[in-house]
Amino acid sequence: MAPTIDLRATRDLPTPEPDSPLRPRKPYRFSTLCATVENPAQKDQYGSSSVPIYQTATFKGVGGQYDYTRSGNPTRSHLEHHLAKISSAKHAFTVSSGMAALDVILRLLKPGDEVIAGDDLYGGTNRLLTFIKTHVGVTVHHVDTTNAANVLPYIHPTKTAMVLLESPTNPLIKIVDLATIAQDVKEKAPGAIVVADNTMMSPYLQRPLEHGCDIVYDSATKYLSGHHDLMAGVITCNRDDIAKNLAFTINSVGNALAPIDSFLLLRGVKTLAIRMDRMQSTAGVVATYLHNLGFKVNYPGLPNHPNREIHERLSDGNGAVLSFETGNKELSERIVGSTRLWGISVSFGCVNSLISMPCVMSHASIDPAVRKERGLPEDLIRLCVGIEDASDLLDDLEHALYDAGAISFNAAQHKFVRTPLPDSDEGLSQAIDGLAVDEDHETEWFVSSPGKVILFGEHAVVHGVTAIAASVDLRCYGLCSPRHDGKVSVHLHDIDNFAGAWDIESLPWEHATPVAAGETHPEALNYKLIEALYNGPLKSLAADRYRHAKSASVAFLYIYMTLAGRRRPSFNFSARATLPVGAGLGSSASFSTCAATALLLLHRRISVPPPPAPSSQETGHVHVSHGGRRAIPADIAVEVNGWAFVAEKILHGNPSGVDNAVAVFGGALAYTRGGFGRPAGMVPIQGFKSLRFLLTNSRVPRDTKKLVAGVGELKEREPEMVGKVLKAIQHIVDEAHRALVDAELPREDLLHALSAWINENHAYLVSLGVSHPTLENIRAKTANAPYGLSTKLTGAGGGGCAVTLVPDEFSAENLAALVQELVDANFEPYSTSIGGSGLGILSPYAHHRNFHESSHIDGVVTPPETPGPELSTPPGSEKAAADDKPLPPLRSAFERTSLTDLSEWVDGLGRWLFV
Ligand code: PLP
Repeated sequence: MAPTIDLRATRDLPTPEPDSPLRPRKPYRFSTLCATVENPAQKDQYGSSSVPIYQTATFKGVGGQYDYTRSGNPTRSHLEHHLAKISSAKHAFTVSSGMAALDVILRLLKPGDEVIAGDDLYGGTNRLLTFIKTHVGVTVHHVDTTNAANVLPYIHPTKTAMVLLESPTNPLIKIVDLATIAQDVKEKAPGAIVVADNTMMSPYLQRPLEHGCDIVYDSATKYLSGHHDLMAGVITCNRDDIAKNLAFTINSVGNALAPIDSFLLLRGVKTLAIRMDRMQSTAGVVATYLHNLGFKVNYPGLPNHPNREIHERLSDGNGAVLSFETGNKELSERIVGSTRLWGISVSFGCVNSLISMPCVMSHASIDPAVRKERGLPEDLIRLCVGIEDASDLLDDLEHALYDAGAISFNAAQHKFVRTPLPDSDEGLSQAIDGLAVDEDHETEWFVSSPGKVILFGEHAVVHGVTAIAASVDLRCYGLCSPRHDGKVSVHLHDIDNFAGAWDIESLPWEHATPVAAGETHPEALNYKLIEALYNGPLKSLAADRYRHAKSASVAFLYIYMTLAGRRRPSFNFSARATLPVGAGLGSSASFSTCAATALLLLHRRISVPPPPAPSSQETGHVHVSHGGRRAIPADIAVEVNGWAFVAEKILHGNPSGVDNAVAVFGGALAYTRGGFGRPAGMVPIQGFKSLRFLLTNSRVPRDTKKLVAGVGELKEREPEMVGKVLKAIQHIVDEAHRALVDAELPREDLLHALSAWINENHAYLVSLGVSHPTLENIRAKTANAPYGLSTKLTGAGGGGCAVTLVPDEFSAENLAALVQELVDANFEPYSTSIGGSGLGILSPYAHHRNFHESSHIDGVVTPPETPGPELSTPPGSEKAAADDKPLPPLRSAFERTSLTDLSEWVDGLGRWLFV
């Protein structure tokens, strides 16, 4: 590698200290030269620190240094002096663009001359060469200059007038031995001029005049300016005769750089070195990342880059432009279209990173046949690295590759891997559509989400009072397993015990409105799609028998289709719940959360964060996770919450979002609709302590809407009485909220107070007319000796569930006896706790390695082979468990495990990550 910056040869700039035998004059290094604009021959009359803009066309007087800005301007003179200094040049000229620079240079040619040029030149250069070929009568030979010997046969001692080179080339980053070619040309055609386009490197990284070139030009629009806020071209040379001719053309044509652009360019050049350092360091990281994924990457910093040793000899760095091939043009287009930070733009050298496809952008002016002939792949992606944070750029690129289907996550290897490309384009689009095997798709995603109870404030919440809701440790579980037959299927064990499968292609895609990654679903549902699903795939389902399953399947397919891009994976989603369904415990929000999470994972909209590396402390990042809690980042939770809410809306029309929030975030929250002197909103109850509860399903179905309407009517009839009740409930809620977050309140006192408020709140609910004899029966049983517990209805009342607070000291025997009593009375009691974790995802990083189709997972024995519940098989649906083919490993165990063993089995599967 060439010397580093510190050792770099320096150019002439007098130091403040003169030479002396004792202290030899120390030349400045490049970045100092860049930042120090000093021209001893042109002192500013006021000592301005920054060169002023001489925004004038003319200068007064006769015989002065300047008369007319086309011929010369002080701002431009300063700039040109500065550029000559940093380019190892005697002369520098600045013109209106890089192409203007080449135009000035090409005007050195005359009819009959021959030009030898590279075959991988910038598109605009090709265009101009073609023009002079046809209009000026100059012959142009395009040669593969990556091998200096290729040039030799074309060098004619008298006819060859110019050799035009670029190194590295753009966009294939081919390395050309400028020094050897310049030497060969000098020997065989001494009159020929060797010209180098140095735009890709800038004078900081390469100074071709030092390697024998006669003229160097740069598109200063790129690195020299660095901000994409001006167009400029720079021409440098050492030969006076050439300089004279160039100056003549510029003055004659009038394309010299304007004063204001000269000022801007001078300002940009000052930071050239520091920008380039940052850009090329990140470019190295990006190139290595893509190379390690197995893409064909063109970057001189990579060990196998052709002619790398030549580049090291000629230059001081690898630059910040790289390109890579994906193997497929459409795939490349999707990648380019999926980035956010990398702006889609032609050009390079800006502080902002850019991505482009040269064949459809910067090099589109080259005939496709010629592009092919010159080996310019149509799928080539060019990356021009800016000064943004390297990690952000990598993240963005990784997301784009992932979204486009170029890479997938390999759970076994704990990393992203390149998605294998089928040989043909047709095969590729199949893989992208999810019909062929893709490694990531083989993952079985297992998710779970809690139900909720309303502790205080139900019904009153409709009238603006605050309600306290908490997660309950009875959960809904969802498992997404791959299929390979172009079908999507659901098996909803606890929702009408329904199993159904549909051909993906037969779904009403024409009505789907995809929502792109990063976008949120519009507020209004796509009713056309909902209708099309009811009247299409789900039409044959009997409304009475499968009412709930029908709407759950519609919600599920709606989200599947709305999230799907071109990739439409084939899979099965099985859901089971330890949470009683339809008992007012938020089971539909819990189902919606599981479905949304599984679909977001399946569609790669969210990804599970890998376990923190053992060395993560070195990064300074502290990762807090208690038994998996807080292992799922908040942004994923928010994304899930949004999509679960869409599913909830399909199921319920106008949900409050409370059930959803609890199902995703867990813990407890206070919710106010607004209108009772309180602002609307949801507030998490920080530090909520987990409490033991007995939940008892009365098994009496209720009509929530009717109950809510009943309270409304009562309020109209007896506003004063209801008003008082509402006030009293708000008071209970406020007291309870305060007590729940009071870290100093002894737990015993808290439980005591909660018991009293439970009884009080229930009494108010009775006065609102929403209790039910069965609920009173449950209350009586739990309150009786020897239990003495407090119970209230939860949710809408009129049946549904009752909640009983179980104090810490309540004995296990008593609890067992009470449970038995409730069972005997034909109720369904659940001993559980509230305030636990929200959404959970089984980490894909551990269990896959150990999971075999046998009954052993990490030594945990899967439940006995009890047959699953008898499936109903409606027309058009399938009997999932009775499939001939073996089911994926987790799915078969999940569907067979008994409900009583389910949560224990699930916990033993591996590491669960929670919000
Ligand atoms: N040379 C190279 C290598 C380029 O990439 C470009 C522009 O993209 C040019 C020359 C032309 O420069 P300009 O656009 O400033 O005219």
